[in-house]
Amino acid sequence: MLRFVSPGREPAEKGTDLLVQLKDIEKGKPARYVLDVSTHLCGDPAFPIEVATGQLKTTIEDHRDGYLLSYQIEAKVQAPCSSCGELLDFVVSSQGRLGLSLVQPEEGHVVLKPSDLDVRFLEEPQLDLQHFFDEQVELEIPQFPRHGDEDACQRHYSEILETEKKTDEESSPFSVLSSLLESENGSKS
Ligand SMILES: [Zn+2]
Repeated sequence: MLRFVSPGREPAEKGTDLLVQLKDIEKGKPARYVLDVSTHLCGDPAFPIEVATGQLKTTIEDHRDGYLLSYQIEAKVQAPCSSCGELLDFVVSSQGRLGLSLVQPEEGHVVLKPSDLDVRFLEEPQLDLQHFFDEQVELEIPQFPRHGDEDACQRHYSEILETEKKTDEESSPFSVLSSLLESENGSKS
């Protein structure tokens, strides 16, 4: 759910996209948005990150060289341990500022100034708030999340083995046979 706090035109909701048209932002009138995201998955499908709750607060203002975006993100997410697969909890809390440039970097552009690192080059004068939220969350989660200690992974492994053993025992033809024999023996005696 998006709460639009500033003057100007409300971002268009196209399916799951929440597109802010940057051209609608007037000089000297920063646009402010508060986005409460609903539960969803993001990140690499092989190691999906599940966002349980999250909020993005952002201000976008017209700037000499493009637009200036400040953001604040709070989120509770879960991602699988890359070693044992158990879901780990993460709390994301980050804030920052970056420039949005509509002018593409020249070919062979080399990033030399540290300030260049905080510029995002957009192909179209629009920004999808939900995508922006997801990208920032992904940056905050380690690429290969892991339990802090190997004992925890080990514990999860033994849990998995335990469950597998149980299901194996239940579905094994021998267990069916042995229960039959048991009941036969039971009826004879
Ligand atoms: Zn683990």
